[in-house]
Amino acid sequence: MNGMPVPRLLRWFARCRRELPWRRRHDLYAIWVSEVMLQQTQVETVIPYYRDFLRRYPTLKQLAAAPLQDVLKAWEGLGYYSRARNLWLAARRVRDAFQGRIPRTAEDFRALPGVGEYIAAAVLSIGRGLAVPVIDGNVLRVVCRWQGIEGDVRSTATRKKVLSFLTGIIPENSPGRFNEAMMELGALVCRPRDPCCRSCPLRRDCFAFLRSRTASLPFRSRKRAVPEYRAALAVILRNGRIFIQQRPETGHLGGLWEFPGGKCRPREKPEGAVVRECREELGARVEVLAKLAEVRHAYSHFKVHLHVFICRPGKGRLRTGQSHAWVKAQDLERYPFPGANHKFFPRLHEWLSSHRDA
Ligand code: SF4
Repeated sequence: MNGMPVPRLLRWFARCRRELPWRRRHDLYAIWVSEVMLQQTQVETVIPYYRDFLRRYPTLKQLAAAPLQDVLKAWEGLGYYSRARNLWLAARRVRDAFQGRIPRTAEDFRALPGVGEYIAAAVLSIGRGLAVPVIDGNVLRVVCRWQGIEGDVRSTATRKKVLSFLTGIIPENSPGRFNEAMMELGALVCRPRDPCCRSCPLRRDCFAFLRSRTASLPFRSRKRAVPEYRAALAVILRNGRIFIQQRPETGHLGGLWEFPGGKCRPREKPEGAVVRECREELGARVEVLAKLAEVRHAYSHFKVHLHVFICRPGKGRLRTGQSHAWVKAQDLERYPFPGANHKFFPRLHEWLSSHRDA
């Protein structure tokens, strides 16, 4: 492998890169926030969140001092909430164990919550000049095509080949720019479909381009089908207030607020499931007043088909082991909720305004 493509790639990057807000700030904290947000999320989606987050928490110290609830609220809609929780936990760890300075070594940085291989490589190469290659979906695609790597792009073996190739060519004097250039090339030029090989700085020695193999590389095995669950939720109303509870801080959607409910059993009707779930979860009977909405939502490993009911509590207190609150509809906005819930909030407000006595 001759080294010529790398300078060509860097020149292309200098000429064609997008002006993105995180490319204007060079402090590690801002780079870190942007890379955490960019995991599993499109650039266009991230931009407004990134700006808002850094407006609220311009420094790591301010992030560490904030309540988790506020941080989750700022993250609301971006999904994958464990990223926000881990970033906040890591900020506290840095404040308490490293006098507020982000660790300089990969080993210490990797030991922080939520800092995996990708985040460590991206932040330390861009922010500290450490020569470690970044591998994301874009980079995998570019290298598999460029180098003619035929294995399944999801496999560890392919990843290892890509890593070993990149480790051999990453330039010591500009590893961050190299990593950014590879990711940018994948996003703008070496796109999954119809790569724009004519304007690619790697085309002269690109395996896929020279052999007309861009449509068949990289090879991707079929994904397993994602299961879909039916679930039933209760919006319980009492004296104009709504019952909400907070999910435990660890686990899926940890720390967010939710309505009581859960998965429907096989062949169980959603109306029955909501009553059963409330009985099991809250030790109380609820009466279903109306069906409010049905919404579908996709998470990374499953999809959910939600049936939402307006309910009223029967006699007795609602017992819950979780933090909970009775809130006015207009105050729901102050609590961070999963994205699926936001899909029926407009319908809930409509329903409430036409049933003011509820
Ligand atoms: S020449 Fe085409 S296939 Fe090869 S890396 Fe460039 S855009 Fe991708």
